[in-house]
Amino acid sequence: MTISGIITLKQGRDHSVKRFHPWVFSGAIQTATDSLVDGDWVEVKDSKMRTLGFGHFQKGTISVRMILFGDAPPSGLIFQKKIKKALAVRLESNLISEYTNAFRLVHGEGDGLPGLIIDLYHDVAIVQAHSVGMLKNRTLVAEAIKEVLAEANLPVTAVYYKSLTEKTESEYLLGMAAVPHVVLEHGNKFYVDWEEGQKTGFFLDQRENRNMLGEMAKGKSVLNTFCYTGGFSVYALQNEAELVHSVDASEKAIALTRKNLILNGYDPNVHECVASDTFDFLKDKKEVYDLIILDPPAFAKHKDARHQAVKGYQRLNAEAMKMIRPGGIIFTFSCSQVVDRQLFYDTIVSAGIQAGRQIKILHHLAQPADHPVSLYHPEGEYLKGLVLYVE
Ligand code: SAH
Repeated sequence: MTISGIITLKQGRDHSVKRFHPWVFSGAIQTATDSLVDGDWVEVKDSKMRTLGFGHFQKGTISVRMILFGDAPPSGLIFQKKIKKALAVRLESNLISEYTNAFRLVHGEGDGLPGLIIDLYHDVAIVQAHSVGMLKNRTLVAEAIKEVLAEANLPVTAVYYKSLTEKTESEYLLGMAAVPHVVLEHGNKFYVDWEEGQKTGFFLDQRENRNMLGEMAKGKSVLNTFCYTGGFSVYALQNEAELVHSVDASEKAIALTRKNLILNGYDPNVHECVASDTFDFLKDKKEVYDLIILDPPAFAKHKDARHQAVKGYQRLNAEAMKMIRPGGIIFTFSCSQVVDRQLFYDTIVSAGIQAGRQIKILHHLAQPADHPVSLYHPEGEYLKGLVLYVE
């Protein structure tokens, strides 16, 4: 890799990098090479000019995203090495099998590749870049994916770049594949459309939570709100739920849920899929359901929106707590990174108080092993959930 410049840190501001925190904030920088442009590889040094590591430079609060720690510069094979390591973690956690062929191969900071997301849908890899550096390196990344997966006997036929902004176009970096694609998750089938779908086409982060829900669904009357692809609905039905209703504000999501029910052998006319706002839907449904899933989109993407988000989570949970049948179970989630586990917990407590019901916590849920979090970068934890028993 060509290293375009050097960044030196202020005295006393190098602790976090020494502790493998992957972000260098602009306030920690003493000097930077003038000619640096967004996406350049840089060498990061402490105030005594000792090399701490290498990463991608970008103007902004986070000025460098560290990719390598130590004094050895990144070779041309850096992405191969890192993706190979990431794959080893997935293989180690036993999540790839004849029943599951969709998983997150690279989860940004958690895999030592800040700014990079790679999701694998059987034989198609979807790449997302959350930094200019990763955007610029996307072709190298695609080649590395192809090579590493071929070597591991999990060959890909295509690598698709899914853009986050209008400025760059989504495109196939290697090969081509038709959408939608059918993937397997714990033996359940799902259509995935990375070209049109939200995120990379599927919410892989709920896989293990869906599985747990399935185990509790037998004989129950289930409401899956914010259902998107109907993931939780299919698992509930596969485990003999008596009835499942799926709700999403998006017509497209509801069409997809219907298709996924049919794909798995269930009738969407019996197990209704409703395009509606969740709050409206909940209004007149007192004591109809004994299992409710609340998996809303991130109510807050930034700190400024946190207060409003907390109010949203509180209202949503209080409504569900009020109308669930006695002895009912709620799976409640927040994927807002700025609402941490404690704040989410406190919000659920206040929703319980507002609903005025006796409630027990059965489980604390999180993102699965293919969305790992670096111990030194707690900001990487975003998915939090609670399983509640409402007396
Ligand atoms: N539970 C899903 C992921 C949910 S993503 C899964 O397991 O895959 C969040 C979904 O909430 C999106 O599909 C979005 O269309 C929907 N949504 C957003 N606001 C909503 C609202 N007010 N009422 C109902 N659905 C909403």
